[in-house]
Amino acid sequence: MNRILVTGGAGFIGSNLCERLLKDKNNYVVALDNLYTGRLSNLAECMKSDRFEFIEGDVQDFHDIPCDQIYNAACPASPPAYQKSPTNTTKTCIFGMINMLELANKYNATVMQFSTSEVYGDPEVHPQVESYRGCVNCTGIRSCYDEGKRCAESLCFDYNREFGTKIKVIRIFNTYGPKMDPEDGRVVSNFIIQALRGEPITVYGDGTQTRSFQYVDDLVEGIIRMMNDTPEEFTGPINLGNPGEFTMLELADLVLKMTGSKSELIYKPLPADDPTRRKADISLAKEKLNGWEPRIALREGLERSIAYFREII
Ligand code: UDP
Repeated sequence: MNRILVTGGAGFIGSNLCERLLKDKNNYVVALDNLYTGRLSNLAECMKSDRFEFIEGDVQDFHDIPCDQIYNAACPASPPAYQKSPTNTTKTCIFGMINMLELANKYNATVMQFSTSEVYGDPEVHPQVESYRGCVNCTGIRSCYDEGKRCAESLCFDYNREFGTKIKVIRIFNTYGPKMDPEDGRVVSNFIIQALRGEPITVYGDGTQTRSFQYVDDLVEGIIRMMNDTPEEFTGPINLGNPGEFTMLELADLVLKMTGSKSELIYKPLPADDPTRRKADISLAKEKLNGWEPRIALREGLERSIAYFREII
């Protein structure tokens, strides 16, 4: 049996990953989550499996869980959620990372860190390649997350150099799809829910800022290939994202068309340090992950997401 620990296993990405991992009968999956933003309802399918275990706990505490592979996804990830208690966000990134690296050392496991395109900050290089070092405001309201995730990457590489810890670092670009928390305040969930309810669509700033949106199944495929199909010495960091680039106005327009909603757009102030543009360069992932690339275009992914939100709201 391959024993796998998924921290943040009740979260949006963590729970999609747990479900996928359980499809392999050789996997035993333990999900650790403090349910700060994760939701047990995301694990309803997983709970039916006798190869699945849920532990309610915080990555800031050391949990001695025997394992061969660790996916470290624990951290609130939407700006309103991670800014609610910024110091807690940084502690989750750092203490959580140290605990997982120590656990990996203890069991000779491989630990994969779920890093983020936020390490690039408000980027001056476009699209973002892994070698770009980023432009982060270290005193701003996003820095608890950005710097926490940057330091977590440093810890991975230092543990690797100092102790030979087996690490993999992925940088995840904006991801959406089923199991997203309707309350988490992200643009995709907000726009879909507002459109379905006939409420105004809240565009922050003038809506010309861009993001590249990746459907969660594409991400999970990349994650699994990175963990299992790359040699030990290939540590990353590696970008996982969809290179399609859209403005928030284009997204709003598409959501309105696809839901047939009559909601109007209202403009709200742009939050501080909101990156103006973001687009994943995925050349490295294509090369290293057996030609991996996103398969689900925005329109198709939105269709599935709209169906999910329609059902739960
Ligand atoms: N955004 C928006 N309306 C919303 C929520 C977000 O226009 O209701 C904008 C936000 O300012 C940002 C983009 O959408 O420019 C993506 O925001 P999200 O919080 O989803 O992700 P992140 O900023 O972390 O990439």
